[in-house]
Amino acid sequence: MSNRVFNFNAGPATLPLEVLEKVRAEFLDYEGSGMSIIESSHRSPQFDAINNEAMALGLELLGLDDSYKVLFLGGGASTQFAMVPLNLLTEGKTAAYVDTGSWSSKAIKEGKKVGNVHLAGSSKDQNYTRIPKPSEINFPKDAAYLHVTSNNTIFGTQYHEFPDTGNVPLICDMSSDIASHQLDFKKFSLIYAGAQKNLGPAGVTIVVIKKELLSRSPKNLLTMLNYNTHADKDSLFNTPPAFGVYVVKLVFEWIKQQGGIAAVEKVNAAKKDMIYGLMDKNPDYFKGTVEPASRSWMNLTMRLPSEELEKKFIAEAKAAGLVGLKGHRSVGGIRVSMYNAMPTEGVEKLASFMEAFKKAN
Ligand SMILES: *Cc1c(COP(=O)(O)O)cnc(C)c1O
Repeated sequence: MSNRVFNFNAGPATLPLEVLEKVRAEFLDYEGSGMSIIESSHRSPQFDAINNEAMALGLELLGLDDSYKVLFLGGGASTQFAMVPLNLLTEGKTAAYVDTGSWSSKAIKEGKKVGNVHLAGSSKDQNYTRIPKPSEINFPKDAAYLHVTSNNTIFGTQYHEFPDTGNVPLICDMSSDIASHQLDFKKFSLIYAGAQKNLGPAGVTIVVIKKELLSRSPKNLLTMLNYNTHADKDSLFNTPPAFGVYVVKLVFEWIKQQGGIAAVEKVNAAKKDMIYGLMDKNPDYFKGTVEPASRSWMNLTMRLPSEELEKKFIAEAKAAGLVGLKGHRSVGGIRVSMYNAMPTEGVEKLASFMEAFKKAN
């Protein structure tokens, strides 16, 4: 394994080594079936077992009961930007959205194509450097739903407190922080996440929907875009992204083995403290780009004193086996993405690298 680097990319992102090794071991002959899981029918007993287990583990890890349904869909989180309003922003209703960055804006854009959208809160004026407080988020009492983006992958902010929406369904794009820290997931009526940040490979999107919402989908909605189509058939209406579902199941098992989300949260807290601690000690050198109260545990963003130093930092880090540290093109600087699967050892190595870099430059 000596040639594996520490991969700090924002997504697709690093996966647990144990999971990759299991995939490799099982790849040619899945559990004695004589074929790979990527060659198996999605109606085979082996895939059926994987699918059922992945759905059950998803609910178990999030602490949800069977009043929720877990779906594994294609199309990425970006397709959910459309499916959410197509199914839930029904005739005569208004959907509320909070704008906290690029992904939220894209979700809002799709919502507006479907129906009435109310902007419930925004940090656009502040360059998305903070998350609005619950008291700053306002929406009609009869809104179809309130949509939030729990972690802003590009800007490096994260909700640490969600608004209480009462009877209004709370819908959350959790693509970049699902299962990374404890939450009362029952607060949410619909959660979606592209798997490629915290749960598995690209190609599968997990949707967790409260079953009572399923009755809202318009009857004339196109079949593949209707949540009911997938919920009724355990995501097997058409060929699902089977390999992705299989890896997600292994990642769920890996999280469970660690002790569930509570245990993973402890590790993630220690990891982010290492880097934010260093930034706070050297605020003029590793300058955070967001308000401290809104800092993300998953994507840590900073600027160095000059763009030349940032380039040098990225190049030297890469040479030291620490890759993927370049900030998103819309923000610049450095972005450290440390999802569940980033080992503590990788963050320790990055912290030492940062200290040495500062001394030398
Ligand atoms: C990456 C990301 C998306 C887009 O996901 P795709 O699966 O590429 O469509 C949406 N929302 C957030 C918060 C993300 O981080």
